Amino acid sequence: MEKNVNDIIELGIPKENINTNVSMAQYTSFRAGGTAEYLIVVDDKTQLKELLKYVKIKCIDHLLVGNGSDLLFRDGIYEGIVIKLGNEFKKITVKGDVIVAGASSPLSKISAAASDNSLMGFEFASGIPGSLGGGLYMNAGAYGGELKDVIIAVNAISPDGKNEYVFSNENMEFEYRNSALQRNKMIVTSAVIKLKKGEKEEIAAKILELTTKRNSKQPVDFPSAGSTFKRPKQGYAAQLIEEAGLKGLTVGGAQVSQKHAGFIINKGKATATDIIQLIKLVQNTVYDNTGIMLEPEVRII
Ligand SMILES: Cc1cc2nc3c(=O)[nH]c(=O)nc-3n(C[C@H](O)[C@H](O)[C@H](O)COP(=O)(O)OP(=O)(O)OC[C@H]3O[C@@H](n4cnc5c(N)ncnc54)[C@H](O)[C@@H]3O)c2cc1C
Repeated sequence: MEKNVNDIIELGIPKENINTNVSMAQYTSFRAGGTAEYLIVVDDKTQLKELLKYVKIKCIDHLLVGNGSDLLFRDGIYEGIVIKLGNEFKKITVKGDVIVAGASSPLSKISAAASDNSLMGFEFASGIPGSLGGGLYMNAGAYGGELKDVIIAVNAISPDGKNEYVFSNENMEFEYRNSALQRNKMIVTSAVIKLKKGEKEEIAAKILELTTKRNSKQPVDFPSAGSTFKRPKQGYAAQLIEEAGLKGLTVGGAQVSQKHAGFIINKGKATATDIIQLIKLVQNTVYDNTGIMLEPEVRII
């Protein structure tokens, strides 16, 4: 179905929020990939609901993008609408041991707000480069912590833009890099996080320790989407890839990181096709070597 800028303006979305032919390399941490026909920033819940109703009625493909740190758009044109949540969704408020944060708040900022208010329990997320919404979709986690451990409620809008829901932690069905959002397609607008009172210096020291660890182990100097593959039931993806002799393997501008074999990095001019081909090559080689099929963690659109 045809999309139309005037129709979208009539929904109450400012013209300057409507972008056409946008390179998704700018909006994804891989710094690679195709072009979205439309990228629309919604400033508040009303605009989000109106846009969701419009895409539903017109049967237009659409995808909500957070920080783009777990996404790769195939080369070519995405004939749909990429939706981004604007400033209204970046608010973070702290009351006692509870933080209410908008869905597009970066996890690092929530972590900093927790630390500034002597709240502990969010240090694990300080170096995850995603937004709260994307983090909830993936149940993001690191160094023994996951969002599952700290979330008490999630506010969301139904995919047709008609209804608002509040999910309890249990209803989010959190599992390893998985949550109910991957099935019900709800759009998160904000969430409530409960932490524990702690010592400011200890919290800051923990964040520094985890940052140092991350920087020493991960190829942070190159664009990537973090761990390319999920942790398989048997072993660790990075170890299996290294044992298959794939460290440094290159397709075009994409490479299995020499520093951490679990990461595929963009050496500078990788296309999405290079990255996808390398993902397949790694999967097939590891499968031939071990019988284990690695499942990508990065979402390919
Ligand atoms: C260098 C690097 C290190 C990383 N380290 C880690 C790590 O330690 N642990 C970890 O778990 N991950 C890690 N990641 C992966 C990534 O940061 C996480 O998966 C993060 O949670 C993704 O959030 P995002 O906002 O970037 O989501 P996006 O990539 O923008 O989107 C991911 C999915 O979430 C959906 N989504 C986004 N916002 C919403 C919303 N408001 N409502 C509903 N659905 C939404 C999108 O539609 C998409 O399907 C790393 C990535 C990089 C690049």
